[in-house]
Amino acid sequence: MLDFLGDLKRTHMCGALRLTDSGQKATIMGWVNKRRDLGSLIFIDVRDRTGVTQVVFDASSSAAIHEKAETLRNEYVVAVTGRVTKRDVDTINPSIPTGEVELVAEELRILNVSAQLPFLPGDTVLPNEEMRLKYRYIDLRRDKMQYQIQMRHEVALAIREYLAGQGFLEIETPFMTRSTPEGARDYLVPSRVHPGQFYALPQSPQLFKQILMISGFDKYFQVVRCFRDEDLRADRQPEFTQIDLEMSFPTQEGVFEVVEGFLKAAFKVAGVELQTPFLQMTYDQAMRLYGSDKPDLRLPAMVDVRNAFSDAERETLKFNNGSPVVAIRIPKVGELSRKERDDIKPLFGERKDARVFEDFKRIEKSYPEASGKIRKALEAEPDDLIVLVAGPSTPAEHKSEGGIKPEVKQHDRAVYTAAGQLRIDLARKYADRHKLFAGDRKLASSYHFLWVTDFPMFEYDDENKRWAAAHHPFTSPHEQDMDKLDSDPAAVRANAYDVVLNGTELGSGSIRIHRQDIQSKIFHALGMSREEAQQRFGFFLEALTFGTPPHGGIALGLDRIVMILAGGDSLRDVIPFPKTAQAKDLMMDAPTPVSESQLRDLSIKIRE
Ligand code: ASP
Repeated sequence: MLDFLGDLKRTHMCGALRLTDSGQKATIMGWVNKRRDLGSLIFIDVRDRTGVTQVVFDASSSAAIHEKAETLRNEYVVAVTGRVTKRDVDTINPSIPTGEVELVAEELRILNVSAQLPFLPGDTVLPNEEMRLKYRYIDLRRDKMQYQIQMRHEVALAIREYLAGQGFLEIETPFMTRSTPEGARDYLVPSRVHPGQFYALPQSPQLFKQILMISGFDKYFQVVRCFRDEDLRADRQPEFTQIDLEMSFPTQEGVFEVVEGFLKAAFKVAGVELQTPFLQMTYDQAMRLYGSDKPDLRLPAMVDVRNAFSDAERETLKFNNGSPVVAIRIPKVGELSRKERDDIKPLFGERKDARVFEDFKRIEKSYPEASGKIRKALEAEPDDLIVLVAGPSTPAEHKSEGGIKPEVKQHDRAVYTAAGQLRIDLARKYADRHKLFAGDRKLASSYHFLWVTDFPMFEYDDENKRWAAAHHPFTSPHEQDMDKLDSDPAAVRANAYDVVLNGTELGSGSIRIHRQDIQSKIFHALGMSREEAQQRFGFFLEALTFGTPPHGGIALGLDRIVMILAGGDSLRDVIPFPKTAQAKDLMMDAPTPVSESQLRDLSIKIRE
């Protein structure tokens, strides 16, 4: 205890005082949350991390302290000693745990004063976010922020305990390292000692965790910061925290079990009892049924209704033979006005490779038989919204069929994704009507988890005109697809998986390549020359030759999990010191220019 607190013994935290403490002497310390001056009586709400307690200063019992209490202002830091007393019936506040008692002050120490604040932690109307971020320390004093940050601690702790209990070791990996290919830009740290050379902050500890498997630590995890210099969106931060893990001799199911276990532990912290195992679905199924690799299962699946139409009808409607006609159903939207219907087309957007049929009424009029079949296939109720999405009127260019007999051909993917996007956009727009997004946060039934498996190994990068790794280049391809590496990369499936919750990807991972020859082949398929592969990943290719066990793992975003559990609106709500969408720290005011001499030390010249 600091000296200036003298003999004060803190017998009670504010929010912990209860009726059973009545008559006891107690000292509470905290901030003046609110004051009401009724003349001879002054009421102060003192706040600390555990809550607030009402303190009363009564001029009739002690004029001196009452006088001192008159000087109190919002956010002064005080220590008050007094007697815990039962409140008068008419002043009981049932909305706070200490609402039945108050502390009748006998001694008041003002431990610190506060200047006038830009806003108050107790304010019901929040200032704009810029202000909140600039004065983050005040913002963090708010109840809700205290709750969210505490929730973050508890969730991380539950996950750590679970994983440690399963024999995982938490092992730290460096922040100053070299580039890891996760598909984003690196944050670079210039080296003073090696002019012109840079460390990269890790986009993930991917290579380190694989190396740890080669080192014999067969179960690794880390709650770890990752850094990615991406264009920021509401749900992204330049630095974010992953629950990162890797296992040797794994099966895909084994990884799923571990993740389901720690998610169960994490959700329990918020009072939610999750049911495991989670549903599983291949990427191909997800595309076909939801038009997305992160399906939102709260909404009905889509249905391919091409067969509801006769050949002649398909011809009139210019439905290409073989191409899907996807029906979307959004429940309980009710009759759309003309304007609402007209708004669907712009929502769908201009697309070369897909068309929308937003007026189902018209289809019903012209094609009653087909429409009846569609309604039946969708199990539609009369007040559900039905929209059709089909391919372009001219046949799409034939691309790869895709590996292991998928139903979604590569050239039809655009139709499914366009339908999937429209499904989500319409569902968001009419969320008030169907209410499927408004599940009770405390109920397990509000959380629709699933595993999406068998992703494609490669994605075509239109900008750079080459194949890129869909997950990352250390993911193992399906053995059956190995012969298509050169001839048809689009058909190669990967042993990669994502865990998805309510339409959001919580994490992704894969079973890795553990053979050097295969790893070299994949680098080659990605258009990397032998020299480039050697230069970027030589150390890793060499390590793979020295007895590498089969291994695999996953990483999940902790910030996102906490945001969902704490009911936050943005990741910034659950990160104590987040950055803005412009990647700025408004409190510290970072980034900033640095001095000429610092730049000189680093051999750096700023280009005009
Ligand atoms: N390193 C990957 C990521 O950050 C996850 C993994 O494959 O384990 O997305």
